[in-house]
Amino acid sequence: MGRIPKFRCVASIPEVTFFKPVGIPYRLLKEICLSVEQAEAIRLKDLEGLEQTDCARRMNISRPTFHRVLAAARGKLADALLNGKAIRIEGGKFEMEVRRFYCINGHQWEVSFQDMVKRPPRLCPTCESPNILPIQPSRKGYLGRERQLGEAGVE
Ligand SMILES: [Zn+2]
Repeated sequence: MGRIPKFRCVASIPEVTFFKPVGIPYRLLKEICLSVEQAEAIRLKDLEGLEQTDCARRMNISRPTFHRVLAAARGKLADALLNGKAIRIEGGKFEMEVRRFYCINGHQWEVSFQDMVKRPPRLCPTCESPNILPIQPSRKGYLGRERQLGEAGVE
């Protein structure tokens, strides 16, 4: 280890985060865990069909790092598909491309990835209240088990 891992930039978190093969009893089921940034690498390269250089730039990582993230993701997916394992998407070291916050007085605003990584917000820019929370990007995303205050009406 040694090196502090950098945040990777992720534009979206998948809505569905668990996949299970048909016909395998739960106690025999093995699962692989895909991190959110590995899922993003697959999305950018294999779904949107972008060049690796563009994928790397979007995720704020070097091209060799992107290549490693993608290779690890593809290896896990192949293992799951061909060996009949469940796939769980969660965790990782990432920050959203754009993140919305709200304060206790109902103001909402957006913070970009660059600002978020440099200096996460502490006060509402409108009323300077310190009681602020991020709005979770996905209904059933990686934090889905703990529904957060204020999340309900915001999609
Ligand atoms: Zn406010």
